[in-house]
Amino acid sequence: MSNKERRIDTKLIHAGEPRARFGGAVAMPVFQSSTFESQGESDYHDIRYIRLNNTPNHHCLHRKLAELENAQDALVTSSGMAAITTALLTVLSNGDHLLAHSSLYGGTHDFINKDLPGLGISADYIPLEDPQAWVAKLRGNTRAIYVETITNPLVQVADLEAVVEFARQHGLVTLIDNTFASPFNFRPAEWGFDISLHSCTKYLNGHTDIVAGAVIGNEDWVGRIRHKLNHLGGSLDPHACFLLQRGMKTLALRMRHQNRSAQAIAEFLEGQPSVRKVNYPGLAGHPHHQRARHLLDGCSGMLSFELAGGVEEVERFIEALALPVYAPSLGGVESLVTRPALTSHSGMSPEQRSQAGVSDNLIRVSVGIEAVEDLIEDFEQALKKSFRAVGAV
Ligand code: PLP
Repeated sequence: MSNKERRIDTKLIHAGEPRARFGGAVAMPVFQSSTFESQGESDYHDIRYIRLNNTPNHHCLHRKLAELENAQDALVTSSGMAAITTALLTVLSNGDHLLAHSSLYGGTHDFINKDLPGLGISADYIPLEDPQAWVAKLRGNTRAIYVETITNPLVQVADLEAVVEFARQHGLVTLIDNTFASPFNFRPAEWGFDISLHSCTKYLNGHTDIVAGAVIGNEDWVGRIRHKLNHLGGSLDPHACFLLQRGMKTLALRMRHQNRSAQAIAEFLEGQPSVRKVNYPGLAGHPHHQRARHLLDGCSGMLSFELAGGVEEVERFIEALALPVYAPSLGGVESLVTRPALTSHSGMSPEQRSQAGVSDNLIRVSVGIEAVEDLIEDFEQALKKSFRAVGAV
């Protein structure tokens, strides 16, 4: 049986690992050398040098990441933003136009709005739920379409099959940020996407201790993006490669646990009178529940919810939590909570936020791998404390 046919749990451990182990080492050693003896390389991009993303640590990760998403090739980068910006700058040139879903990660949104116009690249946003409206935004120079698998912070799941079909009809390159799902829950190449992007800082590494990114796709696109990255310089240091590879090995164990825990927490919160609304695609009442079941192998550890009270109750609730840490980012082993109105969406006006469905009392949770019973007990006591103080519930 080839690695390609194996299950993701097995691939995480064995795919890409050197077949003749270096010095017999079972764990891949760190090759902390900036340059390597020449072996007659004649092309600039083949010179063995850290910035050119070709140390043994890079090669190993590239093979593993490609196999995880059943794609041809992969490339690690110094951050998720390095993956996203380098991919967009490879696909788009002066005079090109991009279509992007309206709810994107803030850093990506800012790059599209603030940096691309200066390079002569324009963009229009398309509504997630209305594929009929996408055609009206097409221009003669539209080159690509950019989406996220699960959106932040409302955890919506776009009609990803419609995105690929639309792109095929109109000759567009498809890019998808697969960070929130991780390769465990969604593999873009299997659904026809050209380029999958990750902030490996999140689920892929899973231990909240590095920043890294990845581009996964066919050989042609990954090759072109690698050449651009070689020039822009956003390469990942071998020690961070080592940590990422180590973290990735437990992705399936973590993600399975996080999928289940988020589902249990969402169901618990849904039954609480002090909670107005819970956003989690694993809930039968979520507008994209059926689509999520069709596209995803799990709904991830990300959920958000609105308290019935106001900002005061939200602040008291977060303060009363004993386990989740009040911090941005996501996808690690420890649970985190944030208030999107103060973090990812703070750049928007209150009107824009309310249009986007991000209220001031929305709380986002990244569920970790703690015992879910402990997390639920913690949420329960924090809700009681938060609402007892004002006698609301
Ligand atoms: N994409 C998503 C969905 C994210 O949430 C983030 C960071 O929060 C990024 C990309 C950027 O990743 P990084 O911080 O690794 O550059």
